[in-house]
Amino acid sequence: MKGRVAVLRTYGGEFELREYPVPEVEPGAILVRLTRAGVCGSDLHIWRGEMKETYGASPRDLTFGHEMCGRVERLGAGVTADSMGQPLREGDRVTYCYFFPCGRCPVCLHDEMGSCPRKVRPNRVAGTPPYFNNAYGDYYYLRPGHFVFKIPAEISDDIATPSNCALSQVLYGLRRAGLRAGHTVVVQGAGGLGINAVAVARDMGADQIIVIDRLPDRLELARAFGADHTLNAVELATADRRVDAVKELTGGFGADVVADLVGYPEVIPEGLRMLRGGGCYLEVGSIAPGNVFSYDATALVRGNVRLVATSNYSPWALEQALAFLRRNLKRFPFERVVSHVFPLERISDAFQQADWRERLAGPPRLSRAAISM
Ligand SMILES: [Zn+2]
Ligand SMILES: [Zn+2]
Repeated sequence: MKGRVAVLRTYGGEFELREYPVPEVEPGAILVRLTRAGVCGSDLHIWRGEMKETYGASPRDLTFGHEMCGRVERLGAGVTADSMGQPLREGDRVTYCYFFPCGRCPVCLHDEMGSCPRKVRPNRVAGTPPYFNNAYGDYYYLRPGHFVFKIPAEISDDIATPSNCALSQVLYGLRRAGLRAGHTVVVQGAGGLGINAVAVARDMGADQIIVIDRLPDRLELARAFGADHTLNAVELATADRRVDAVKELTGGFGADVVADLVGYPEVIPEGLRMLRGGGCYLEVGSIAPGNVFSYDATALVRGNVRLVATSNYSPWALEQALAFLRRNLKRFPFERVVSHVFPLERISDAFQQADWRERLAGPPRLSRAAISM
């Protein structure tokens, strides 16, 4: 039996599909037959060649992709339940963390598994056994002892796909930032992370949610996901005007939590100025190296500012993300987050269109692309 893997040989270029043998499943492991994979902002960074420090000056038979879901194809010996203790059988739909914390170090012990220094990175060179190490392919080999969760029946594959990335990350981040019921939150950036953050903040009981973006259709989607106020950064063309607008909406004091979900460091200083005294700035957006910003440390001290940055998440967040989806399926239009689904044979089109539309201002825009297997 063989399965396909999408391989990239030139940044910004076309993928080629290669076939590899489907591996035997060792005890404790799970072979997943993938049904969906997401094209995340970080996947676009990789495809464009903006993360060469990690992926090399030119891609060496690169396979990647980290947002996905699928069905259990084969269970390794000894696997009988998911990480919540629910019985797991072949054919069950599952999601899982795409990174592998060691579970045996001081960082993991302090429930910071997302930044475990010993975490195993998925192998990204095509042809490395067990061959199916990333999301853009027919299978995924889930190594022994890993965190895995059954997807509740009422959550579709399209809605479940981003749950192991954007949704879990913002849920984990907003918890760490100390968001509580009654708080005012500013969300900088209404892309995939931002839209999820708005819905999660609403679910956590935020009183007022203010969203800033440059694109009207993204702001409209943010309102559909529960934003109370949206600020168009093109109309409010300067940082001063945007800070003033937030102050005005918060009685002059600023927000309890401000979250950067943009990925350009220019937004950080203005976001810090939007905080109330003692508020928390949550940094999530900066993932490509070189995102340097400048700010007066004295203003941080005088403002009693808390800074929280999060990479990945602890595995409990994924279980909470599924519960959040189940609880809010009728409340928010999750089906609008993925706008275009391409079959694996057309993965190059998916990336080209997602890239092109991300650079283009104004509707109609691709909010998010997915790949179906
Ligand atoms: Zn992602
Ligand atoms: Zn560890």
